[in-house]
Amino acid sequence: MSSLSFKNNILQPERPQLAIKNSYRGRFAPSPSGLLHFGSLIAALASFLDAKSYVDTKGNTGTWLVRIEDIDPPREKIGASSAILATLEAFGLHWDESVLYQSQQHQLYQDVLSDLQQANLSYYCQCTRAEIKAIGGNYQGHCRGLNKPVENSAIRLINQHGIYQFNDLFQGQVKSNQDLAKEDFIIHRKDGLFAYQLAVVVDDIYQNINHVIRGCDLLEPTARQLTLFTTLQQKTPQYGHVPLAVTNKGFKLSKQNKAPAIDNNHPQPALIAALTFLGQKPPIELCNVSVEEIIAWAMKHWHRESIPKKIQINIA
Ligand SMILES: [Zn+2]
Repeated sequence: MSSLSFKNNILQPERPQLAIKNSYRGRFAPSPSGLLHFGSLIAALASFLDAKSYVDTKGNTGTWLVRIEDIDPPREKIGASSAILATLEAFGLHWDESVLYQSQQHQLYQDVLSDLQQANLSYYCQCTRAEIKAIGGNYQGHCRGLNKPVENSAIRLINQHGIYQFNDLFQGQVKSNQDLAKEDFIIHRKDGLFAYQLAVVVDDIYQNINHVIRGCDLLEPTARQLTLFTTLQQKTPQYGHVPLAVTNKGFKLSKQNKAPAIDNNHPQPALIAALTFLGQKPPIELCNVSVEEIIAWAMKHWHRESIPKKIQINIA
């Protein structure tokens, strides 16, 4: 492993940005496939509060960034990016540094992909979804050894690590599906788009993110992302997963099942509900104060240990 050398600048251990490695850097990374709903507000609020309640030895709070994950144009809704940002502002979740758009990062993803290819850590795959389903649903490395570019093929990572368990800041020791975690997963799609796992990990490295706070729907991707960080010989961030808000039928609140967008003109009730969901016990007096005052209270009273140790919670 130590003989591997990646050419890409962001993967070099001596890059100057690493000087900030001891401070807290977190992010909220929505995809613009729809407006924010109550479920995404919970994730945004948790990542904001975890960063802003952190204080370093010099008295600085953590840095909280927003990244728009617009790498999948067919799924994008026009106007969603700016609407998401407007909602975050209405809810008092102000980000530090400028917003990063994944659509502007293609060259970097390509460079890291090329590094992986040159290090013989990837291969082309022509298997169809139906073929993989026919062998049980988990990919078995059928195309390993296919190193020449072939038209209409995906690119898979050679998964040498198969990381499937990790220590979560809120959930404790987490084990995900081991077979799934061992799979050679796709890092470049058949349709020519970069895969989510590659883009997210490259951007987390690029932005020096060391804390990833998000919903439990992303537990399985976390295992793969830990494998990719390790393959790229990078330090892994700490992960914290908050419970997922589900309907009484067990459906995730999501853009796909048309969860209602939250009301920017009247953010207080949703903020209080999100804090309650996160186990933070906001006092009744907070119902009558400004958004800024609610956020100030929440920053001061954020308790990681109060977050429910549950994968999902019914809210309706
Ligand atoms: Zn294949």
